[in-house]
Amino acid sequence: ISLANQIAAGEVIERPSSVVKELVENSLDAGAQQLTIDIEKGGRRRIRIRDNGAGVSKEELPLALARHATSKIACLDDLEAIQSLGFRGEALASISSVSRLTLTSKPAAQEQAWRAWVEGRDMQAELAPASHPDGTTVDVEDLFFNTPARRKFLRTDKTEFNHIDETIKRIALSRFDVRLSLNHNQKNVRNYPAVTDDQAIERVAKVVGAAFTDHAVALDVEQMGLRLWGWIAPQHACRHQADGQYFYVNGRMMRDRMLNHAIRQAYGDTLGDDRVPTYVLYLQLAATDVDVNVHPAKHEVRFQRAREVHDFVLQSARQALRSRAS
Ligand code: ADP
Ligand code: MG
Repeated sequence: ISLANQIAAGEVIERPSSVVKELVENSLDAGAQQLTIDIEKGGRRRIRIRDNGAGVSKEELPLALARHATSKIACLDDLEAIQSLGFRGEALASISSVSRLTLTSKPAAQEQAWRAWVEGRDMQAELAPASHPDGTTVDVEDLFFNTPARRKFLRTDKTEFNHIDETIKRIALSRFDVRLSLNHNQKNVRNYPAVTDDQAIERVAKVVGAAFTDHAVALDVEQMGLRLWGWIAPQHACRHQADGQYFYVNGRMMRDRMLNHAIRQAYGDTLGDDRVPTYVLYLQLAATDVDVNVHPAKHEVRFQRAREVHDFVLQSARQALRSRAS
């Protein structure tokens, strides 16, 4: 079982930022409104996520660490219309097979907090009482300590932390209502207070930079069950590096060729070779119109009406850019 977990880990857990992504998504699935992310040494020494979400009961703690134990899919129909971010039930098992992971949790209705961790080759879960406020802490120490090959692929602490920072930025742009705080080696690096939808641009300015929000065009278009809203930079305000491209499909950050292509096309020839489209965009459509269950890392998406989606994104973005040009 441990080996199977390690193989699964190889697919999904590429580096510290992959761990951060999985854990943060779990916290959000648990309804957390506040997350504190503590990183040490680029995540190779420690990744610790504390949340104030619903928590895991004592009985469910060992289950949460077991493979394919997910509380989020009750039947096959659920698979067709996935709403929660995590759904494969293998992130915690995978991560704990390649690190020293402890899961500490206290649901509000439970008097006492409990801590669980797995030990030994048979991955037996151990349990002990703990002290913890309502919510959950997942503490991941010494990532890849038992998989030297994977450890060798890690870059400098700074580079690994930059990946984590980017992961948190993506999340910060997907949930304005959640407060996120990111620390590296005991120093606060990012602090994103919760904002209302009306103040969303404040969060965007904090995450992407005021240079973006000062120039970006706001758009909000709805058509045939598709909605696209957000901000897109006119060509003169586009970046020279590909680090300002945020596209969300039903709240989930995507890197999708077809969508990239549509936006690139919206700029036409106006974009010089030295600039890349810069945007924060949100596409919303019926859950049954998209299949997110394509790859374990969940970056890809498959649309039922791919052509329509492509053209809708292209036209909406183009219109926004033209309104600014004239
Ligand atoms: P999945 O998210 O796909 O269900 P995971 O391995 O990521 O699988 O998590 C396993 C289970 O552990 C989740 O289904 C959930 O019940 C529980 N869990 C994990 N993290 C948290 C958290 N931060 N708060 C509450 N429950 C959690
Ligand atoms: Mg998960």
